Amino acid sequence: MRQVVIVGGGASGLMAAGSAAEGGARVILLEKKDRPGRKLAITGKGRCNVTSALEPEELLKQYPRNGKFLYSAIHQFSNRDMISFLETCGVPLKVERGHRVFPVSDQAEEVVSALVRWCRQKGVRILCRTAVKRIEKESRGAAYSVVYEGGSIDADAVILATGGLSYPGTGSTGDGYAFAKQFGHCITDLRPGLIPLTTQEAWVTQLQGLSLKNIQLTAFQEDGKKINEEFGEMLFTHFGISGPIVLSMSRDIGEYMHRHKKHVRMQLDLKPALTEETLDKRLQRDFARYAKKQFKNVLSELLPSKLIPVFLALSGVAPEKSCSEMTKSERREVLECLKRLSFTVTGCRPIKEAIVTCGGVSIKEINPKTMESKYAPGLYFAGELLDVDGYTGGFNLQAAFSTGYCAGRYAAQER
Ligand SMILES: Cc1cc2nc3c(=O)[nH]c(=O)nc-3n(C[C@H](O)[C@H](O)[C@H](O)COP(=O)(O)OP(=O)(O)OC[C@H]3O[C@@H](n4cnc5c(N)ncnc54)[C@H](O)[C@@H]3O)c2cc1C
Repeated sequence: MRQVVIVGGGASGLMAAGSAAEGGARVILLEKKDRPGRKLAITGKGRCNVTSALEPEELLKQYPRNGKFLYSAIHQFSNRDMISFLETCGVPLKVERGHRVFPVSDQAEEVVSALVRWCRQKGVRILCRTAVKRIEKESRGAAYSVVYEGGSIDADAVILATGGLSYPGTGSTGDGYAFAKQFGHCITDLRPGLIPLTTQEAWVTQLQGLSLKNIQLTAFQEDGKKINEEFGEMLFTHFGISGPIVLSMSRDIGEYMHRHKKHVRMQLDLKPALTEETLDKRLQRDFARYAKKQFKNVLSELLPSKLIPVFLALSGVAPEKSCSEMTKSERREVLECLKRLSFTVTGCRPIKEAIVTCGGVSIKEINPKTMESKYAPGLYFAGELLDVDGYTGGFNLQAAFSTGYCAGRYAAQER
């Protein structure tokens, strides 16, 4: 019987382990933390956006750099397969806004337990608190020896599923990059993906704690070309901006900054549902209705209170001015600030705060069907360790599950 050793018990490692065991191998999973799936348990703010309900062809577009590499893996084990797999494991799922799939219970732990239970039912031995130190080639007749503190295990095939570099407290500390390098693999530039952004202007950080819903954010390159835009919710922090749409936009923004070493101009539309014309009419109406009131006192109709002092300073209109005295050009300034509040993104937060790591083991060196190394037969890769990353929406977990599934299946096959 072929012996397969999996290094790392995250989303991809658990899937690889169960899949290899289903394929008929004797499987041992080594996890350095006290229990498997620690990162998986905090995904989706503890609710686990486990995959997406998009059509597989649309799904592949959500991995902008390396989607092509995933084509085979996602067709072998698609998001639909993941959904039926979890439902068969007793985890009912629901689809939310943006095709995001979550467990009905809103408990990521339920997904972790289901995967662990499935692995155990298939006969996988899970050894926790077992940090792998290195992988040695050809030992005692086996293809590999997996060395951990206090011992070693022989393996006919090894699957590296050690994750990326973000949230190191969950165990993902980048160990797999060194193991891959040992076998001649190249690691592409590692940088944060899906990450909060730092900004230049002092007023942005003054707003820390303020969350804005139903706003539109647009990012521009230095030459004025649009990078991307999103509608939804953002958050001001002590270093800059975060929140759902910022994380989702950060992937392309980070890529632009990384490539061009330039800052990015952001434009915030506080009233995206209103055209400039409609908003101008509304301002005229409000200023006429509250003619005797001071400008600063009518803003509460339009903006959250925390934003008002900052907005007043940026608009340049005297706060005490009465509405009846507002000139057309002052009204224009107010409109401009409501529709196009500008600020500068200077960088990304550190990689340890990222939702996903961009970069990793070069996919040019991996067989996209089997996930096997092109340099070391019997050595497989799965999950975030690979140079594959997607947008938010369940795509990173799906990539981990699809690559884990394929690695497990092929690693289990007798040669
Ligand atoms: C806060 C947060 C929220 C997220 N939410 C979502 C979401 O809702 N949906 C989504 O699609 N994606 C989400 N992601 C991304 C997703 O969690 C990851 O892409 C995914 O977990 C990667 O799976 P993996 O198996 O490759 O790596 P990990 O899940 O990182 O697992 C790697 C495992 O390997 C173990 N390991 C590492 N080195 C060794 C070693 N030397 N020896 C033994 N074991 C080792 C680690 O302890 C760890 O358990 C989120 C990420 C974060 C940080």
